[in-house]
Amino acid sequence: MDSQDAPLSHLNDEQRAAVLALHGPVLVVAGAGTGKTRTITHRIAMLIREGVAPSAILAVTFTNKAAREMRERVERLVGRGGVRVGTFHGFCASFLREEFPVIGRSGDFSIYDEGDSLALMKKVVEELKLDPAQTRPVDLRRAVGRWKDRFMTPAEAAQASTFGQHAIEARAYALYDANLVAANACDFDDLMIQALRLLLDHEVVRLRWQKRISHVLVDEFQDTNPIQYALVRTLSAPGGNLCVTGDQDQSIYSWRGADPGNFDNFLNDYPSARIVKLERNYRSSANILGAASRLIAHNKRRIAKTLRTQAPAGEAVRVVVFNDDSEEAAAVADAAQTAIREGAQPDEIAVFYRTNSLSLPVERALLARGVRYRVVGGLEFFARAEVKDLIAWLRWMSNRQDTVSFERIMNTPPRGLGDAAVERLEAIAAERGVSLPVLCADATAFGSLPERTRKAALAFCKLIHQLETELQAGRGVRAFAEELLELTAYSAWWATKASKAGSLDPFGNIGQFLTLAGEYDGTRGGRLADFLAEISLLTDLDRTVDDGPAVNLMTLHTSKGLEFDQVYIVGVDQSILPHVWAELEDRDDEEERRLLHVGMTRARQRLVLCAAQLRSRFGQTTVTGPSALLDELGRDGVERFGDESPRRDPRPFKQRWRDNSGDDNWASDASQCDDGEDHPLAALREGSRVFHQDFGAGEVLTVRGHQMGLERKVVVLFDGNQRRTLILRHSGLTLLDT
Ligand code: ATP
Ligand code: MG
Repeated sequence: MDSQDAPLSHLNDEQRAAVLALHGPVLVVAGAGTGKTRTITHRIAMLIREGVAPSAILAVTFTNKAAREMRERVERLVGRGGVRVGTFHGFCASFLREEFPVIGRSGDFSIYDEGDSLALMKKVVEELKLDPAQTRPVDLRRAVGRWKDRFMTPAEAAQASTFGQHAIEARAYALYDANLVAANACDFDDLMIQALRLLLDHEVVRLRWQKRISHVLVDEFQDTNPIQYALVRTLSAPGGNLCVTGDQDQSIYSWRGADPGNFDNFLNDYPSARIVKLERNYRSSANILGAASRLIAHNKRRIAKTLRTQAPAGEAVRVVVFNDDSEEAAAVADAAQTAIREGAQPDEIAVFYRTNSLSLPVERALLARGVRYRVVGGLEFFARAEVKDLIAWLRWMSNRQDTVSFERIMNTPPRGLGDAAVERLEAIAAERGVSLPVLCADATAFGSLPERTRKAALAFCKLIHQLETELQAGRGVRAFAEELLELTAYSAWWATKASKAGSLDPFGNIGQFLTLAGEYDGTRGGRLADFLAEISLLTDLDRTVDDGPAVNLMTLHTSKGLEFDQVYIVGVDQSILPHVWAELEDRDDEEERRLLHVGMTRARQRLVLCAAQLRSRFGQTTVTGPSALLDELGRDGVERFGDESPRRDPRPFKQRWRDNSGDDNWASDASQCDDGEDHPLAALREGSRVFHQDFGAGEVLTVRGHQMGLERKVVVLFDGNQRRTLILRHSGLTLLDT
């Protein structure tokens, strides 16, 4: 293969057009699996081949993993690296590391995750002497997040909120912000806000970066928020070389501030933009593509688009309704096991779900069968107490102003600096006008303390100085972390604590963390602050340790951008998908449909959608039943199994699933699913004749609540002139032939 031509020979005409339009604004709008990401990669390669310096190219992806893959592919295509590829947060963190000093802040700042931010907000609530039961820190955090999404400063928030609760929230914002600055920390929103402010308010900085970066590319543009958009607009401003790709039907982050209108904004801002539409799907079988397209067609606020494929129909998309979630899990695990036995790669099999808690039954079932799996992003490694402790220690060593981390480690492991001691120390700190961490590093400060506390504080102070010396020795992150575990006596303390709690492998997570640190030292230089930034910015997808072939379990949100041969989506139940939150918080129902659409379009060859009549969650069994979304997939190339009406002897369906799950033509024999047709009442319409045991025959007047998340209700006028409103699912109605 001629490497000079390689990039273009793998593209279709439209993709090539997007790649060859090297300069100026370009918008690629296209459905799932049409090669948007591939187009971005090839465009980068083409830019480099045309002489653009790799470091002048900034490409933004949604996860670090995607960024890594893109970087590797570009390197394979042109044999050169050095392109800035990463997430928005990652780019902003490195930007701030360099530019923060312009506004007098240190580049060695801490990055606070949601847990840290919440801890900080709790302190704010205390400082403001608010009642945490009345004014919950989590609500305040959310209010602050909303202002931040709108790029409003605390002062602007205060101006806009002069009354009641809003005024309290604005005061909390101001204090939260001041505390962040004092701790030299940024929360996730801050990374982008601070970077944008620096670019907008400081011409030197703006010119520096505009000169540095000539071409900007953004994948998954539908999920960017206005601040992120402003950021890439500003960076690419002089040449207007901004290329974005996205799919409105995959917009699933509007609840986190992503702006679904950003395609319109782009077209307004760049009226001369070259618009490229890609219509050929290279990923999925025709049956999968058909079902996914029919589903998304139910969204009203969307521009219809064509998606074609040259792939064969493939096996039918399966919709299976189980009696309960353990049957569902068993069936999915059986199917995965059978597929692997028949030669499928475990990595090519994925199970998706709406919320993390749904993974447990599937995990148990896979475990029971000895099928290896990994939970992508789930209960994270980084959320484990010992890992958080270790990170807090490292963070504080890197940024001595970091109060949130300091409070976590001060008495961990316990060293006699409990609450009472801390109060005393805080009083001294306030007297001297220094922060608590600064005070603790000052051995002359403890004279007035009671003997025991004084000794404890002195020992702590000594420890801090020892650790400082270790850190300055600069032997890499891993060596320092190991030293820290010894000097602080954390290892010994944790071993006792964990074995008391019955842990078989108390050092498992710590060991894994050290391995991570070691890898970092080996590949990226071993600077503690950079290492910490890197691990704080790992997305769910990145947080997963890849240790050999395994079935992938992840949320629908995490599945974005990925593809697998076989996809099983569990929990497509009422009140799960669409999620009850969507209703409670008045979220967009259409977004829930897009979410399912994203999951479905990940599948290449096999797609199975599962629901259950009963589901145990949070220790309770609830009646859920199949989601109304499943009614929207149509019939073409879709096979349905199981009973969609309330619990009508479900065993045969489970049996059928099991019997057929090993079969190539998995349950495609229609004679085997006689009563596994659609819901017997699916055909019920206004005017249908129905029969009810108590009320007799009647006529349906109206069918209501057809919308997602609502139970369908029917109003029936029975022949005795009785009018009844019934919940269809529990109505016991039979549809009479007319
Ligand atoms: P999504 O919307 O899910 O992010 P996408 O539009 O980014 O999808 P890609 O992931 O780039 O699509 O491509 C989907 C699949 O199709 C990939 O496996 C890719 O390698 C393949 N593909 C894309 N374009 C072509 C092409 N011109 N010829 C052959 N295969 C292609
Ligand atoms: Mg993509």
